[in-house]
Amino acid sequence: MSQRTKIKALLQTEDTGFEVTVKGWVRTFRNNQFIALNDGSTNNNLQIVVALDSFDDETLKRITTGAAISVTGEVVPSLGKGQKVEVKAKTLEILGDCDPTTYPIQPKKHSLEFLRDNAHLRFRTNTFGAVFRVRNSLSFAVHQFFQERGFVYLHTPVITASDAEGAGETFRVTTLDPIKPPLTETGEVDFKQDFFGKATNLTVSGQLEGELGAMALSDIYTFGPTFRAENSNTTRHLAEFWMIEPEMAFYNLNDNMDLAEALLKYVIAYALKHNADDIEFLKDRLLEEEKQKPQQDRSELNLLEKLQFCLDNDFERLTYTEAIDILKESNHNKKKKFQYLIEGWGTDLQSEHERYLVEKHFKKPVILTDYPKEIKAFYMRQNDDGKTVRAMDILFPGIGEIVGGSQREERLDKLEQRMNEMGIPTEELWWYLDTRRFGACEHAGFGLGFERLVLFVTGMGNIRDVIPFPRAPKTAEF
Ligand code: ATP
Ligand code: MN
Repeated sequence: MSQRTKIKALLQTEDTGFEVTVKGWVRTFRNNQFIALNDGSTNNNLQIVVALDSFDDETLKRITTGAAISVTGEVVPSLGKGQKVEVKAKTLEILGDCDPTTYPIQPKKHSLEFLRDNAHLRFRTNTFGAVFRVRNSLSFAVHQFFQERGFVYLHTPVITASDAEGAGETFRVTTLDPIKPPLTETGEVDFKQDFFGKATNLTVSGQLEGELGAMALSDIYTFGPTFRAENSNTTRHLAEFWMIEPEMAFYNLNDNMDLAEALLKYVIAYALKHNADDIEFLKDRLLEEEKQKPQQDRSELNLLEKLQFCLDNDFERLTYTEAIDILKESNHNKKKKFQYLIEGWGTDLQSEHERYLVEKHFKKPVILTDYPKEIKAFYMRQNDDGKTVRAMDILFPGIGEIVGGSQREERLDKLEQRMNEMGIPTEELWWYLDTRRFGACEHAGFGLGFERLVLFVTGMGNIRDVIPFPRAPKTAEF
């Protein structure tokens, strides 16, 4: 193991008078004397003091923004404000030079768009350092939450032959010649000759396989990448995103909602506790960004208050039908301020409606239940009214939908009937239907979009800024 000390650990000590070795990248070098050194362990920099005349000019010239250096020296109390200790350099080695005339990341504010084009280097900024440390914590917290509750982490396949949602927005996986694929007698692509002997695609959700696990292990969760070829260039959609999908046997919709709410609160609390510096930094970043906006578009709560508020309040639970009534009667709708006006019952809610309910009406996270069956997937449990299903969506301020879930239809006849109505081939999903044939029971689950969660906790505005290497239409660099 390397003998170097991480800057985060060093900044937490109050001791002085001992020697350390630190390594990192130069953020700034002021007055030929003060190096701000960052090693990514924290967004706080360590101040290195270079005594005048202790190093030759040649070395000093190479201490440029972005250069990798190693410093050994004594830890001393800091006279500057903002830090308790600093390091008086005894030896200093340039590990990797960084030419300031061509290095894209300068010690100034860069736009998020510029940094997206330089995503290979954006980890080196305060903002992205903070975002990806928070992302890491949230990911760990997700596992900890489920592991503490005895859930089994189940790895569902990335390549599947099913389109779980029946929405058809999938990426094909094939080894057939794209120019001249083999054809059947009727002129269609002959997938029998393909690698898997059938048409396959990247998974859009691990749910169906997750349910198979739950029907034996009781409580499972998946946490993996999912792929959707939806051509939506929004700030909330990626073509490759990570999803957390728990499935629980013997759970009804209420149990499902309780679990989802507990999970969200747990992971947010975890990040607040373990990433206090990062979130503080991101809070200030957001305040700065919002100064550019007109007063009415700024948030009433700052990022910290917003996260705390989310922990301190029960999410509002109501049915889709109740929500439609609220929206229809809202001044917003009457004054035609929605792009899509709410005319009546049955249509899907747009993100503007979801955000109105959360941000304007209830002013807190909302769980909507019992959606019309026409706008939801085939596997959701049908209510006795014949019109709605036991679905639940969780809507978050600034985000819209963050969780989509339901109690699953466990009755074979009802499920088959719904699949037939929706044109979903029951033969292909024989294995899924087998769980309803052999020991079926009440069960439920949901999908939490991990990047939407990271968006919420970091206060970032674009989903492409919370995943290291975003995949979106016409975007697959790096
Ligand atoms: P939306 O209506 O926002 O497109 P959806 O109804 O398609 O979402 P689900 O199929 O229920 O979403 O997926 C579960 C969760 O996955 C969503 O609640 C959301 O958090 C997340 N999610 C869905 N699509 C995307 C995407 N393209 N990029 C990132 N996250 C997504
Ligand atoms: Mn979608």
